Amino acid sequence: MRLVVLGAAESGVGAAILAQKQGYEVFVSDMGQIKPRYKEMLDAHHIAWEEGQHTENLILQADEVVKSPGIPETAPMVKALMAQATPILSEIEFAGRYTDARMICITGSNGKTTTTSLIYHILAKAGLDVGLAGNIGHSLALQVAESPHAHYVIELSSFQLDNMYRFKADVAVLLNITPDHLDRYDFCMQNYVESKMRILRNQTASDTFIYWSEDAYIPKELERSPSAVQKCGFTDALMPGSAGYADTENNRLVINAPVPFEMPLNELSLPGRHNLRNSLAAAMAALAAGVSAEVVREGLSDFPGVEHRLEKAGMVNGIHFVNDSKATNVDACYCALESMQTPVVLIVGGKDKGNDYSQIFPLVEQKCRAIVYLGADNAKLHANFDHLGKPVADTHSMAECLQQAVALAQQGDTVLLSPCCASFDLFKNMEDRGEQFKTWVRNWSSSSQQ
Ligand code: ADP
Repeated sequence: MRLVVLGAAESGVGAAILAQKQGYEVFVSDMGQIKPRYKEMLDAHHIAWEEGQHTENLILQADEVVKSPGIPETAPMVKALMAQATPILSEIEFAGRYTDARMICITGSNGKTTTTSLIYHILAKAGLDVGLAGNIGHSLALQVAESPHAHYVIELSSFQLDNMYRFKADVAVLLNITPDHLDRYDFCMQNYVESKMRILRNQTASDTFIYWSEDAYIPKELERSPSAVQKCGFTDALMPGSAGYADTENNRLVINAPVPFEMPLNELSLPGRHNLRNSLAAAMAALAAGVSAEVVREGLSDFPGVEHRLEKAGMVNGIHFVNDSKATNVDACYCALESMQTPVVLIVGGKDKGNDYSQIFPLVEQKCRAIVYLGADNAKLHANFDHLGKPVADTHSMAECLQQAVALAQQGDTVLLSPCCASFDLFKNMEDRGEQFKTWVRNWSSSSQQ
């Protein structure tokens, strides 16, 4: 059997190594440059590879292809493979064939990384033999090949779900569905919705499906295509009939199914309503995986959070700094502002993806003391926010931006980097933007102490 892997990054290289171990003849092809670390891994396993091209006759002979989720179906080589009906799988689908581990899978438009990390944190705390995999940057296939676990917590993007067929999640979490990546779905929302709903595929009555019951799409889709799976809907509202809900007035997070559970809301480590939903989903998934209520409670209250997502970056001269560089759309900034408990100096800007900012105007009016624009071109920000009558500053580097932000902030305020935009105009990526923010805060902190 010949297996061709298209795309030689984390998932592709892991799939290649697992395939070789399973006796396939393996060939890896990447249109771009392969990172030195992945070349070394392939060479160490004597796996044939090419970069900077896709050699047709080496690829079209494949019995099966594992495709990186980053390669669209419109790529010419993928089209050619589809035309000759060669099966195209995702790395997760392929790896799933070679393990009986319990699979806890998380998808959604927003909140995947946070919820996946939180579930992993709880399962690890419970002492389970657990691996973290998927979109979060660790190959499932590589772990199955070289360091197998009894449980996996897997973050799945819609692109990974698209090439999954037989794989079954024992516990599936679907956090929400809001428009995203529509360019890969023929600009048709229903196609994207159906892709997300694939996480339910193959689930049976002994499996668990955890979902946000107030989502605009998920409950309708469940009605449209009934499934025998145990369905557990959660909401951050007071809805005692739900499998999971919040009773804010009485400071209670309540879960009725899959296992009854309760804890005080103010003991959750993650702030904000969106994180309350993420915490509910994580608790339900951990309970479904057999973790005790005591450990779930502990894990929800001591989870340190995920870098660049409402990450506390320190307090200097009475001003709090929060790094939410991952907020690359308006919805994420909305969640960040909603969670703020102090007046805010908000940093927004970057590469705008056609944003409609009106959604956050009421929160900006209510919570922000000032706004600092941080982008190569801030014209659209001026046009959108200046009319709110808040003090604004126009900046083009992280240093300039933070100088202006602290000049506008008062003691007790929070300087919040939650940019609504991608970072590529001034930074390498969102991580670089968040790191520069934190470094500036650290440096200011040490110079203030001298
Ligand atoms: P993903 O991995 O799906 O991109 P993250 O956990 O990295 O999600 O969070 C990305 C951004 O989305 C965060 O900045 C946060 O403000 C926002 N977010 C997190 N959880 C939710 C949720 N349940 N609903 C809506 N927005 C959320």
